[in-house]
Amino acid sequence: MKCRKCKDKAVINMRHHKLALCKDHYLAWVLEQTERFICKYHMFTVNEKVLIAVSGGKDSLALWDVLLSLGYQVDGIYINLGIDAGIGYSERSLSMIRKFMETHGEAVLKVVDVPVTYGASITTAASRTHRGKGRPCSVCGLTKRHIMNRIAEEGGYDVLVTGHNLDDEAAVLLGNTLTWQTGYLARQAPVLPASGAGLVRKAKPFCRFYERETAAYALLAGIDYVYDECPHAVGAKSIYYKELLNTLEEERPGAKLQFYLNFLRARDEGAFRVFEEQVELNKCSQCGQPTSLVGLCTFCRTWQQVNSQSGNTQ
Ligand code: SF4
Ligand SMILES: [Zn+2]
Ligand SMILES: [Zn+2]
Repeated sequence: MKCRKCKDKAVINMRHHKLALCKDHYLAWVLEQTERFICKYHMFTVNEKVLIAVSGGKDSLALWDVLLSLGYQVDGIYINLGIDAGIGYSERSLSMIRKFMETHGEAVLKVVDVPVTYGASITTAASRTHRGKGRPCSVCGLTKRHIMNRIAEEGGYDVLVTGHNLDDEAAVLLGNTLTWQTGYLARQAPVLPASGAGLVRKAKPFCRFYERETAAYALLAGIDYVYDECPHAVGAKSIYYKELLNTLEEERPGAKLQFYLNFLRARDEGAFRVFEEQVELNKCSQCGQPTSLVGLCTFCRTWQQVNSQSGNTQ
């Protein structure tokens, strides 16, 4: 198979785009496409300060590399969740990010250590609360959202970006559609404007790239990353939905992309507008972050419960 642009040997064939490219043209294509998505969805501009959440995985490191190459002002945040699972998962992830930074001299990283800052690892925190019936993902998601918003606010960042790819977005969309979670559907978008004081804008510049495309970019750009999924992801519904969508994609190349893009079109046409919730936000009496609750926000309530069980108070 030959590159459509230069006729050299192609390294990737994207059946859904009917496009095969060589290494150099593929790397350039990913940059062009990312820039196009950033502009199309009005995610951010070169004059704005961007904070990227990095996990040490391929998507976030590839995105950081792309945004730096495109000339954006983008700093990273790594949240050390203290997940060990016998493989030192969180520490390995951080060392992969440090390795990335050795070859990206301009990159600045902020690290928030959850056990040190809040008193317990995510695994321990989950075992001490009723949230998510002991599964760490619920406490983890809540904690990550709180920290990312806090760091973005404190650092004066205009937007928080994440490396979610098309496979992630399509899996979330399938899950929300199967259960008709209309409120979640109304809020799923490539960019979410800051919905109130103290809440930062969020954007997903890789949301139209297949997972194999971001993996190919990382590989071809020489970016080393953590291959393992978080050990707590085992058995997650999102993985099952990804497998279902992969089966569909095998039979019908482009099905995943069409599913997502047609949803965005319907969303733009107002199909979910009626489900957009206008919640009144208050200020958490402890951390000051916006919350729909009165008094403490869910994050503070949860961590208060976690620390009360260890005899430790924050
Ligand atoms: S899979 Fe791991 S990183 Fe992801 S939400 Fe669950 S605990 Fe957190
Ligand atoms: Zn080429
Ligand atoms: Zn709070």
